[in-house]
Amino acid sequence: MAGTIEDKATADYVAQKFRDAGLETEIVEYKVWMNYPAEISVDLMAPAGVEMHGPGREHVQNDPYQDDPRVVIPFNGMSPSGDAEADVVYANYGTPEDFEKLEKLKVDVRGKIVLVRYGQNFRGVKVFVAEEHGAAGVIIYSDPADDGWRRGDKYPEGPWRPDTGVQRGSVGYMFEFPGDPTTPGVASVPSLPASQRISPQQSAQMPKILVTPLSYRDVWPVLQHLGGPDSPREWQGALPFTYHVGPGPSKLKMHLRQDYQLRTLWDVIGRVRGATLPDEWVVAGNHRDAWVYGAVDPNSGTSAMLEAVHGVGDLLRSGWRPKRTLIFASWDGEEEGLIGSTEWVEQHESELANAAAYFNMDVAVSGSKFGASAVPSLKQFLRDVTKVVPSPKGGTVYEAWQKASQADALAGQFPAEAFGESHHVPAVQVNSDVPVGDLGSGSDYTAFLQHLGVPSSDVSSSGPYGVYHSVFDNFAWFKKFGDPDFVYVQEMSRVFGLEAVRMADAEVLPYDYEEYGKEIAAYLDAAHRRAEDRFGARALDFGAVNAAAHHFESAGVKILAKQKNPPQDTERLNQALRGAERALLVPQGLPHRPWFRHAIYAPGEYTGYAAVVIPGVNEALDKGDSVRARQQLATLAGALERAAKALEGYR
Ligand SMILES: [Zn+2]
Repeated sequence: MAGTIEDKATADYVAQKFRDAGLETEIVEYKVWMNYPAEISVDLMAPAGVEMHGPGREHVQNDPYQDDPRVVIPFNGMSPSGDAEADVVYANYGTPEDFEKLEKLKVDVRGKIVLVRYGQNFRGVKVFVAEEHGAAGVIIYSDPADDGWRRGDKYPEGPWRPDTGVQRGSVGYMFEFPGDPTTPGVASVPSLPASQRISPQQSAQMPKILVTPLSYRDVWPVLQHLGGPDSPREWQGALPFTYHVGPGPSKLKMHLRQDYQLRTLWDVIGRVRGATLPDEWVVAGNHRDAWVYGAVDPNSGTSAMLEAVHGVGDLLRSGWRPKRTLIFASWDGEEEGLIGSTEWVEQHESELANAAAYFNMDVAVSGSKFGASAVPSLKQFLRDVTKVVPSPKGGTVYEAWQKASQADALAGQFPAEAFGESHHVPAVQVNSDVPVGDLGSGSDYTAFLQHLGVPSSDVSSSGPYGVYHSVFDNFAWFKKFGDPDFVYVQEMSRVFGLEAVRMADAEVLPYDYEEYGKEIAAYLDAAHRRAEDRFGARALDFGAVNAAAHHFESAGVKILAKQKNPPQDTERLNQALRGAERALLVPQGLPHRPWFRHAIYAPGEYTGYAAVVIPGVNEALDKGDSVRARQQLATLAGALERAAKALEGYR
């Protein structure tokens, strides 16, 4: 866990591997505001005579790792301390629609403890919406319908969540801004004066109400004894009784004592200086901190990254030098709020203005199904990389990926998601090639893309994974279910290493702005239809923004022709290509969220991990605010014109 002595030991280990490969290596420290749990209890006060276990120990028959005394008790990062005692209301997944439904059922959640299940949205969104509705506290539990026995056999017989398994996780409002909650936009270097920090009480990232997670074994008697109306039928989970919404008579007492301090984090940064373009950085990273053991999240990614670094070491010994500077990063404090990556990005904002790409991994291997997300300019690059990596299934990764996505399309599904940190958000399809998802938030690419406009991607190989953020995400689970022969870790290592090496060595930057332009046009079509539904035809004028999108796309088509037939001196061409993504940043940021500056992608305030596309416009439409929508259309048109001009800067 971030900030512990075990975390420091893994930082030293990773640093040694980086040095062994010949990377210039440093361990970078930050001081950041974070909680560990001191005392966590949840007791069922009513009805009398009913017992629950409270936040009990996670336990199954025969797991070799569960009894280590260092295993942190289940808790939610960034919850405040405090006590609350109140009747319980069940609110399904805690989406805005779920709370609207409770209002229709005349169930008031003010002052209540809201019980919600994990799934469908980022856990911080559940808390954000509950806080908006006046709840006193939130209990988040894992229903067996979502990642337990309804899905398949539970651990240790199968890969799904056992009765006592608890999903830890941060409930910080990272969709406001990620990183240290007390230093938005500023790096939390150890020398930062206290006067430069905001107080945690003032931080828009910190929830104001109590939150803690439970297993379904613990929630069972609470939910079973709820009265009030039957819940809507789609709210029914897989526990064997009818779910009612309450309020009461189940009454809970929450007692949370969090140990908040400024704690030390350790990012490990290893670099190979570029031979000809040392000021253009290619960054590839994966977080290192885990909630407990984190065999999948993040260590499947860390082991794949270390093997890629090993490969780069062999290349260096053979005399190879990359054109651009290649940087590998082992981030800390991702789980608490993308902290290590965000602080580093904030510290290196000026150098990263020239970065060529950021490549991320996180939950890299939980099974055998390849998936990827990226900004549209990198989607074709990713497909091309997978065309030269062998798949353990035979053929190439690209072929296996294509086959699986065709099967998904036939079954009418989006690319299957691993439960948990669902990074791969189904995107609009503008061609018939394999679908690459859009980047929302939920991992370390966030600051690179959404704060600085560095083209980014995320790759993974996923499968049935019900132990996310529990003690059971450990080596025994991984060896039995995740990747028994470690062949998918090899696959991810090759994909990740090739992404980095190809980008660092590219003569002409392999960005595709034609695909980008087509996707933006599709986002605008969808927004236009929504605007007509909401405000009537012609209430909002999309003329200027559509013209700007068209301008951007045709500039993309023209520069793609140049990329295929490049001049001797590629510097100006590359400069134009790099400038375009940055031009899509809006300097003043999104309304109410100045840290998020990308005009095309942001995490949704009500979806969390999932991307909201053209967020300024779409969130204004969500709010029914036509004045703001008009203003945001103009802002977006401006960004698209700037990006088109950036591409045309090369003539
Ligand atoms: Zn992770």
